[in-house]
Amino acid sequence: MSSSTIHLIIGVRVYIVYPPTEQNMTTLLKYLRILWRILRQITQTYVNALQHGFTFVQCTGETVTITPFFPTIVLATKTSAGVTIRSRCQNDVPSQLRHLGLMVNRIEAVQYVFQEIVDTSLEHHLAQLNNDLAIVLVASELTTSSRELTMALGAAWKENNSRFWTLIEVYISTPSEQQIHRRIARLWNLALKNQGLSQCSACLVDGEDLEMGFTVHFQKEHRNQSEEVR
Ligand SMILES: [Zn+2]
Repeated sequence: MSSSTIHLIIGVRVYIVYPPTEQNMTTLLKYLRILWRILRQITQTYVNALQHGFTFVQCTGETVTITPFFPTIVLATKTSAGVTIRSRCQNDVPSQLRHLGLMVNRIEAVQYVFQEIVDTSLEHHLAQLNNDLAIVLVASELTTSSRELTMALGAAWKENNSRFWTLIEVYISTPSEQQIHRRIARLWNLALKNQGLSQCSACLVDGEDLEMGFTVHFQKEHRNQSEEVR
């Protein structure tokens, strides 16, 4: 509805521009009306399907922290402005592994709406998840909470590593992908040593029963083939 000047920083774009004829304007109007109706309808359908929600009010000057993986709807009764600070916690890494499909679809949906490139952001988020995973494993120590986290991570890894590898294959560039493959069993081995565990945290087999050694066991048993992510 206003004049747009677009400066292309990288890449090439193909434009299809239609003149504002009566036919085109009527078509656009119909499209927008239907789009709005569908969006409103599907939003309502899915919001109605959410269960056990609880409500609270945030007043000016107050801070709210939303726990990871809690779907949230924010409504404003009048104009409001806020600053969001996102932080990642090591206890969330098992959940991140369990909800990989959700991460992919969320990024795709948001980027579709804003017409941005999906792959770059997925690469960024996957690299971040891989770093978080490495940090948790390297920082593991001889405490009950750390051991519980490693066991939770092992269970999540056992169920979801196929999805993880599929995404790594598709979205991470080859040198980084190879590096991730090389490091992963060593990192798990390190975590178990740090905690004095002889048990594999993914399948619970006792390390002393393994003729091949833990690293080889992990490479063989817990780096499953890739699978469909969605
Ligand atoms: Zn195992």
